Amino acid sequence: MPYLQTGRDKLKYLAAAVVVLAAVTGAALLFLNRAPEEYRREEYALGTIVRLSVWSKDEGQADAALANTAAAIARYESLFSANIASSDVSRANSAVGRDARVSAETAELMSKAIEIANMTGGAFDPAIGAVVKLWGIGTDRARVPADTEIAAALKEVNYKKIKTEHRGEKYLLSSGNGQKIDLGGIAKGYIADRLAELLRSEGIKSAIVDLGGNLEVVGSQPKGRPWRLGIQDPLKPRGEYFAVADVTDSSVVTSGPYERYFEKDGVRYHHIFDPSTGRPATSDLSSVTIIDRDSAMADALCTALFVMGRRRAEEFLRAHRELHSVLLTDDGKVYITGNLKEVLSLKDASKKMITIEGTER
Ligand code: FAD
Ligand code: MG
Repeated sequence: MPYLQTGRDKLKYLAAAVVVLAAVTGAALLFLNRAPEEYRREEYALGTIVRLSVWSKDEGQADAALANTAAAIARYESLFSANIASSDVSRANSAVGRDARVSAETAELMSKAIEIANMTGGAFDPAIGAVVKLWGIGTDRARVPADTEIAAALKEVNYKKIKTEHRGEKYLLSSGNGQKIDLGGIAKGYIADRLAELLRSEGIKSAIVDLGGNLEVVGSQPKGRPWRLGIQDPLKPRGEYFAVADVTDSSVVTSGPYERYFEKDGVRYHHIFDPSTGRPATSDLSSVTIIDRDSAMADALCTALFVMGRRRAEEFLRAHRELHSVLLTDDGKVYITGNLKEVLSLKDASKKMITIEGTER
């Protein structure tokens, strides 16, 4: 017998539909009103501790974003590391007198490194590899080399000999005869930029990418306030800041001699080299910070400004008024570019903040 729908049945269906609709709307409203939660991932990569934090209302979205970010880090490390024999950088370094075929990302990063080497008159030199290897700072073979060894290594430091070429689908890289490319001073910044891009493309609105002190934030804090990022006090334990910067969608990078070094006969030898001497840079700066949306640029420029020392760094900043920078000197003075006045707050009352002349707006 066919089922006959009565008026009473219709009412029952209508009531059920209303209940379902209310439940679905309620769940959706609950989801929309829920505050995003923080999801974290921490691991050892790029020779440092990598910390990723994303905020999301959806655990699945957060888990996928974190997993994809970690996979991207592993891939970039396999391309850029000078310590992995099969990396693009190592293959270019061992292809003496020949080109090596590399990924589009390695070619892009290399071009950026050369651009910054030109911009800084070679204070940042991505062909520094022979000097880095000779001193071995940060490894268990760290030592003070003989002057003759330093002179020999220095002959192999000249970014102008590095060549990149784009032929059809192919990217080619040549380090120049015998030179050793080392992207340790820029690659973390480049990777942070790519990770922030990846997180945005996954729909993440708030995130912090911390690649061993190389910080990049996505968006603002979940409630809309800017992120507050601290700048490490070189004389205090890790996590103690002398200043805090309020930023959104930006990167805060600091370089200094206080983390990777060794001591011999009471002298401290650190990992930022002066490409004109082949020795750790004798800077009057304790650290250099750059705040910029382009973290690769910020990373490489911090290293370069540290090498330059305060006077030359100030000149550079006057000539590049778009840059936002903090120079901390050995005697505890904090020199800032004028554009940071409203962005930066000092946490350490014993320090003095001075605006670099000629960078006022
Ligand atoms: P920065 O000031 O940003 O850079 C200093 C580094 O840049 C030096 O360590 C040197 O590599 C290079 N450099 C020094 N002087 C100059 C100069 N004048 N111009 C240009 N470059 C210069 N560390 C490990 O211990 N083991 C690893 O296996 C390892 N793998 C890594 C793989 C990758 C892809 C990357 C990006 C880094 C890796 N590191 C590893 C860390 C690396 O060796 C550097 O110590 C690190 O990148 C330095 O970053 P920083 O922010 O401390 O200093
Ligand atoms: Mg750097």
